[in-house]
Amino acid sequence: MTENYDVIIVGTGAGGGTLAHTLAPSGKRILLLERGDFLTRESENWDPGPVFVDGRYISPDTWYDGAGTPFQPQVHYFVGGATKLYGAALYRLRPQDFGELRHADGVSPAWPVSYDEFEPWYTKAEWLYQVHGVHGADPTEGSWSRQYPWPPVSHEPRIQEISDALERGGYHPFPAPCGILLDEADRAASHCIRCATCDGYPCLVHAKADADIIAVRPLLGMPNVTLLTRAEVVRLETDPAGRTVTGVVVDRGGDGKEEVYRGDIVVLAAGAANTAKILLRSASDASPAGLANGSDQVGRNYMYHNSKAAVALGKEPNDTIFQKTLAINDFYFADGDREWPLGNIQMLGKSNAMAMRGEEPHLTRLAPEWSLDEVAKHAVDFWLTTEDLPKPDNRVTVERDGNVRLTYSDTNDSEAAGLYDEFRKILNHIGMARHHVLHKNFYMSMNVPIAGVAHQAGTCRFGTDPATSVLDVDCKAHEVDNLYVADTSFFPSIGAVNPALTAIANAIRVGEHIAGRLGVSASALAWAPEQRRAPAGTTETSTPAKRS
Ligand SMILES: Cc1cc2nc3c(=O)[nH]c(=O)nc-3n(C[C@H](O)[C@H](O)[C@H](O)COP(=O)(O)OP(=O)(O)OC[C@H]3O[C@@H](n4cnc5c(N)ncnc54)[C@H](O)[C@@H]3O)c2cc1C
Repeated sequence: MTENYDVIIVGTGAGGGTLAHTLAPSGKRILLLERGDFLTRESENWDPGPVFVDGRYISPDTWYDGAGTPFQPQVHYFVGGATKLYGAALYRLRPQDFGELRHADGVSPAWPVSYDEFEPWYTKAEWLYQVHGVHGADPTEGSWSRQYPWPPVSHEPRIQEISDALERGGYHPFPAPCGILLDEADRAASHCIRCATCDGYPCLVHAKADADIIAVRPLLGMPNVTLLTRAEVVRLETDPAGRTVTGVVVDRGGDGKEEVYRGDIVVLAAGAANTAKILLRSASDASPAGLANGSDQVGRNYMYHNSKAAVALGKEPNDTIFQKTLAINDFYFADGDREWPLGNIQMLGKSNAMAMRGEEPHLTRLAPEWSLDEVAKHAVDFWLTTEDLPKPDNRVTVERDGNVRLTYSDTNDSEAAGLYDEFRKILNHIGMARHHVLHKNFYMSMNVPIAGVAHQAGTCRFGTDPATSVLDVDCKAHEVDNLYVADTSFFPSIGAVNPALTAIANAIRVGEHIAGRLGVSASALAWAPEQRRAPAGTTETSTPAKRS
């Protein structure tokens, strides 16, 4: 292949898809390389059996843990990446997360930018991904320059009861920010039908604000954008000095036949583990430890949250359909009574018997279907997240067979236990003292906890010091002049809220920086309203924003 692109982007998920969307109006020639395909719309999208029991949308990769035991990671190789399956809970980090925070197991390091510097891109991300919510309701949140585009998703009666009970108990529940294409004021025009299958399922009606629907599909048909699917990037080639990427080597179809694509700028956004893998596999005489890895930081500091799914069983049935409308950050930080930060509590998608069986095969193996049905009917599902710390020995390396080896041990278990204690007190306040906690990582893991890689981050952190970071503040590799990383790899710390909005905001930020480097003015990046296409599979001509 001899054609030269202005920008080659590897991966079409939260990072890569959003970055392509940012740059596309500039007219620059963009090549998107995606190892997966479009996720097929089929009845199985919403069927918990295929989704949770059969793992239909989990890619058949083999990775190894630190002891060399193989496992199947919960990764999703599609246009849109992990966001095709995500729960679309789109939180900002707290301002303090951008600074240094002390934890039970060590220090969560500061970012090289402050929350206030990052804030404009959070706002852009919330408007692009059509987030529903209300700024000002969560006492721990930072300043915001613009309200969310859509009002919060309304609570169903059972969740409203819980919210009211929490307030009476002195807590500060707030509406969870959610990226769905829902218009509650005009249900007939709404793409989203407010079903129970958002979290962990692909959206059959394309009403979830994922990177495929929001960022990539609007680019199809643009003359300056090329998307190649089933195009797995295996390594990068450089000039002899290792300072410039000269070729992106792609395996199309897994038959070992390679093609090489050329671009002035190359952006890796293959997800935190796979981006590290590509860099490590790009070792050369000039970069013997892997590309951009003179600091030996590539692949290190892997984080994925210390999380727990907790299912509380009440006496009264829980008829809620769309459950992810409530969250609470009262325990996010240390205070006078609490020595350490504990984390965030939010709702999970409503469980059902089949999903419970799929996610917890050991626990539920002996339970007859009817009893699980009964359990699911009364279940209220919560998700508890404690920050995971970046540890140099929690890392991605590449095995001799070319697959990822993920060496990992938990951090902040005592904080996670503290959060669970607080959660139990909450249950007393809301009349749900009878409860049962399912295995850690309800939606993120299968049998092997380390397989729950949904919130993977940190393997190429950004910073000002080339000795301790892989990327500079613009997410350009310190050691390579035309190489950027724009997925969750760049996180120096992960906070205790879901990571996608931060990845999206950063991708817009990096995209704007690259545009500037290519001589594109900020105004040339604006999407004209008529350019903005309807989310595929819907009948609308635009994705309206309700607030101004
Ligand atoms: C079930 C589930 C629920 C989640 N829920 C939430 C949530 O509610 N809120 C939230 O904030 N986050 C959630 N997440 C996490 C969120 O989806 C990720 O943090 C986010 O998608 C990460 O963005 P990324 O760009 O780093 O990676 P991805 O979005 O995964 O994108 C990586 C892309 O690179 C492609 N790729 C990989 N290797 C190669 C290669 N070698 N060559 C070419 N292409 C390659 C992949 O196919 C993929 O398209 C969830 C994740 C899962 C799995």
